[in-house]
Amino acid sequence: MLTAYLPSGELFTIRRRLSQKEIYDLRESAPFLCPACRQKMLLKAGPSKFPHFAHFKDRSCTFESEPETLYHLEGKLALYHWLRDQGIEAVLEAGIPEINQRADILITSEGKRIAIEFQCSAIPQEVWAKRTRSYHQAGIRVLWILGKEKLKSQYSGTLHDVSLGSFEWLFPFGSSAMPTFIAFCPKNSVFFKSTSILPFSPRSTLVEFKISGLRTTSFTSLIKEHLFVTSSQIRRWLYKKEKWKQFSHRYATVQDPFFRELYLRKLPPASIPAEAGVPVPYMHLIETSPLRWQSYLFLDLFYDRPAGTVIQRHKIKNVFTKRLMKGDIILRHNGDLPEATNPYIPLFSYLTFLVQSGCLNSQKNGEFILRKDFIACMPEGEEEKTREKMVKYLESFYSNEIINQELIVKGTAFFEDGSLGL
Ligand SMILES: [Zn+2]
Repeated sequence: MLTAYLPSGELFTIRRRLSQKEIYDLRESAPFLCPACRQKMLLKAGPSKFPHFAHFKDRSCTFESEPETLYHLEGKLALYHWLRDQGIEAVLEAGIPEINQRADILITSEGKRIAIEFQCSAIPQEVWAKRTRSYHQAGIRVLWILGKEKLKSQYSGTLHDVSLGSFEWLFPFGSSAMPTFIAFCPKNSVFFKSTSILPFSPRSTLVEFKISGLRTTSFTSLIKEHLFVTSSQIRRWLYKKEKWKQFSHRYATVQDPFFRELYLRKLPPASIPAEAGVPVPYMHLIETSPLRWQSYLFLDLFYDRPAGTVIQRHKIKNVFTKRLMKGDIILRHNGDLPEATNPYIPLFSYLTFLVQSGCLNSQKNGEFILRKDFIACMPEGEEEKTREKMVKYLESFYSNEIINQELIVKGTAFFEDGSLGL
C-alpha cells in the first residue's frame, strides 16, 4: 500500500521513489497503521523495491484487496495524481467500512462516488461479481481498469489481434452494441481504450484502440463511450473467416460437435455460405464463435430449403433455445452488462442483418420468407462482391446508434410476441 497513518494521526502517502535518507527518516516515525483496518504495517523499501507499506504476514488486512506488484503500485499512484491534477476529489486506497472493502482510488465526481480499481492480477469471476455488487450496494459505481501488461495482443497501428480470456472479458462495460474497456500502462503512462471489440472466437478478438497519453486525457473523455467500427476492422474480420473456411478442416476433429455435424451432412467448412459468420452488433453476448452459432442457425433453418420457404418466428426461437440447452451455443458472462440476460438480442441482430441484406423477407405476422437459396460456393468474383457489400452494410449498421438501441427494445418485444418491425 502507498498510504499509512503515522502515530501523529497524519495520513502519509508515498508519492515517488524515496532516497535512503528519506526511508530512514520515515522508519523513525513507525508504527504505521493501515488506513482501512488500523492494524500495524511494515515499511518495505530497498534499492530495487518501490517503497510501500505492507501488513504483517500473520495479520492480513481485514479489508479485501489484491497482492501488490510494482506495476500495480506505480499504476494506482499515477492514476491518483492524474485525477487530482484535474481537480477531482480522490482518495488513495480508501477503506469503505460499510462493505469492508478498500478501493484503489475513490473519487467523488458531481456528487457521485466512483471506485477505480486498477486490476493487474487475475481474480475469479465470483470474486469480481461479489466486489462489484457490494460497491453497488453502497451506492458506489466502479470502474475497472485493466493492467496493460495483462493484455496479450499483436497489432498493426491501432488495430489489435487480442486474446481475451474469461478474466479480461470482465472489463468491458457499457450497454451499446459493443462494450468498451480501458487498459492502462504505468510504464509509458498511456491509456488504451477500445473503440470497438469484434470477437471472432471465445478468445480471439479484433480490437480497435484509441491510445492516449495520461497528460492529454481527461477523466470525462476517458469514461465517455465513443464507439465505432472501421471498415478495415470488418475486412480483417471477414479475412480471418476466409482463412478459417480454408484451413479449419486441418484441425477439425470428430470429437468437436460442430465439425462432426458438418461432416455428417457432408459439408466442408469451406462450403459455409457468406451470410453465416457475420460480425453483427451484440454478438459479444455469445461466447461461441459467430461462425459457429450462425452456421448452426443456417443448418437448422435454411439449409436445403428453396427460396420462398416460410419460417416462423417461434421456430427460430426454438432452434436457438435448443442449441443453448445442448451447449452448442454458450453465452458470455460479462462483468457489467445489463442486457446480457437476454440471449435473443444477438439472434435478433443477426435476423435484422439477414433481412436488410436481402436473404430474408419479414412479414407483419412475425414470419420470414427465404428470399434466396443460401449458396455454398459462389461463382468466381461473386464472393468478393458480396464481401464488399457486407462491409459497407455492416459499417452503417454499427454506426447507427439509433438502430443499435432499437435492437434491444425490438428484439425483446419480437421474441415475446411482436413483429420484427422493419
Ligand atoms: Zn489493512
